[in-house]
Formats: sequence, structure tokens, C-alpha cells
Amino acid sequence: MNPAAAIAYLNGDWKPLAECQVPINTHALQYGTGCFEGIRGYWDGGRINLLLLAEHFRRLGRNARMLRMECPSPEEMCALAIEAVRRNAPTRNIYLRPMVYKKGTGLGPVLAGVPDGFMIYVIPLGDYLDTAKGLKVCVSSWRRLPDNAIPTRTKATGGYLNSALAKTEAVLNGYDEAVFLNDRGQVCEGSAENIFIVRDGRLHTPDRTADILEGITRRAILGLAADLGIPFEERPIARTELYVADEVFLVGTGCQVSWVSSIDQRVIGEGVRGPITARIQQAYEDAVYGRSPAYRAWLTPV
Ligand code: PMP
Repeated sequence: MNPAAAIAYLNGDWKPLAECQVPINTHALQYGTGCFEGIRGYWDGGRINLLLLAEHFRRLGRNARMLRMECPSPEEMCALAIEAVRRNAPTRNIYLRPMVYKKGTGLGPVLAGVPDGFMIYVIPLGDYLDTAKGLKVCVSSWRRLPDNAIPTRTKATGGYLNSALAKTEAVLNGYDEAVFLNDRGQVCEGSAENIFIVRDGRLHTPDRTADILEGITRRAILGLAADLGIPFEERPIARTELYVADEVFLVGTGCQVSWVSSIDQRVIGEGVRGPITARIQQAYEDAVYGRSPAYRAWLTPV
């Protein structure tokens, strides 16, 4: 696919992405009132396999309802995503960005009574973070948004200012990625990834009340861990557990499974990819490229 000629969906029309524009007084632009997803499609040499498509649109539907935004049904959004892939005919890995947004142009930060819009566009996407190299990570000086301020769970556009502040600080300070603590001072997640640590052969990840996004990849990894016989716990994680962990890795649609070599300039484990991380990374890669019959149901071929 040629990104310059990409075709996108906006409020009922299919048009060149470059022609999809919104007015400057759009509510979502002014107030950050949107809610989105990120979905990967993996090219297997003959077709694109969309990863966990229905799960993404079920999450979007739930989140939009909570934010008082109306969007097509999950089934309709799946059909639009498949159509977006067909129209762009990519022959390499892609990323789909569906978004529900407040398209009204009135003044005032309210949600009810403001008309909604829906878009999908597609871009080519290789690695978001380098999955081969160990990441240098810092604990952010920015705290994660609490659930009763802007719920991270909803994947709301406005909440990503919090992520952008943390990621920018990390990169300007020479790190690859930032890890947030929540307002209780517990380990939360990366700027766009969930986090796992390994201690004494067990996986640990913050639970769903820790102000995290309930990641689709996180859940998939917990399923893989169960199938691989790797014990896991979802529980509050203290900051210093990061520094004494045997292994740490980040997971998400974008970053896939990316291992962490240091946090705040403290080497994690032996400073190499750990054995549990390697098993999870391999199992995930096999699943998303359709090499594991047991996980074929994760994929929607187009
Ligand atoms: N946390 C945040 C803040 C994110 O933006 C993402 C990326 N969507 C994730 C976690 C990982 O979620 P998922 O596995 O659903 O992509």
C-alpha cells in the first residue's frame, strides 16, 4: 500500500486520507473528546490477518458508551475495518486506527447531546519499539491519570496527553520508554503498553484496578502464559519490585512483546532477554503470524 494514496473512512464516506478533514472547531479537537483503538494486521505472504479484531471493537463499543459517544455496532465496525483493508490492499504489516469522536462544533466541554463521528484509517507499521533490543526504560516523573479523573481504561484521546508528557520526557532524557506509577505510587503501565515482571519464575502484572488500560495484548499474554504453564498473578506492584525483577517486558498492540534491559539505569536480571520473556515473545509471534493452529481464532484473514 502507498501511504500517500491511502483510503480512509469518515462518517459514511470512503475518501483519500488526505481529503479527510475536520473543522477547526470540532469538539474532539478542542476538548480531546474521542475514544479510539489500535489494531494490527500481519501480512503472512498472501493475506493480512487482523489480530483480535472483535475484541478491539467490543472494547471500543463499551468505552464509547461509557463516554456517552455513539458509534456503529461492534459487528459493523469489524466490517468497516475489513473493508478498509480491502480498499488499501496492503502487502506488509499494517495498523488500523478506528476512532469515535465528538464531531459537533459547539462550545463547552459536555458529552451528552454533542453529535458523534466515526473514522478508520490504515497505515503501514513495522516495529513500534525494537522487540529485538532491550529497552532502556525510566519511571516517569508524571503520574498516571487516576480512574476517576480521565479513565485510562476508556482509551480516550484526551488522556493521551498524559502519555505524551511521559514519553517525551523519557525520550529527551535518552530512554526508550517511560513507565508510569499511579497516584498510589504503584507500578501502572507504559505510555502505550502494559507491563509484566518476572520474579522467581512467576509473571506479575498490575491488576485492572491499577489505572491501567485493560490491554487486549495483556489478556492474550495471560492466556499464553496459562497455556505454557507459566504461573501468573495480577496484583499491585511496588516501584522497587521493578529494580529487583528477574525479567521485565512491555506488551501492547504497537510494541507487541518488547523486553526491558534496564530501568532507571539499573540493569534488569542479567541484562539479556530472560527465558520466560523469550518463551512468551516466541509464542506471541507464532500466534500473530498464524503459525500456531491453537491461536488461529485470534486472526481475521482479509
Ligand atoms: N496501555 C496504554 C496506555 C495503551 O495506549 C496501550 C495501547 N493500546 C496499551 C496499554 C496496550 O493495549 P493493547 O494491548 O490493547 O494494544
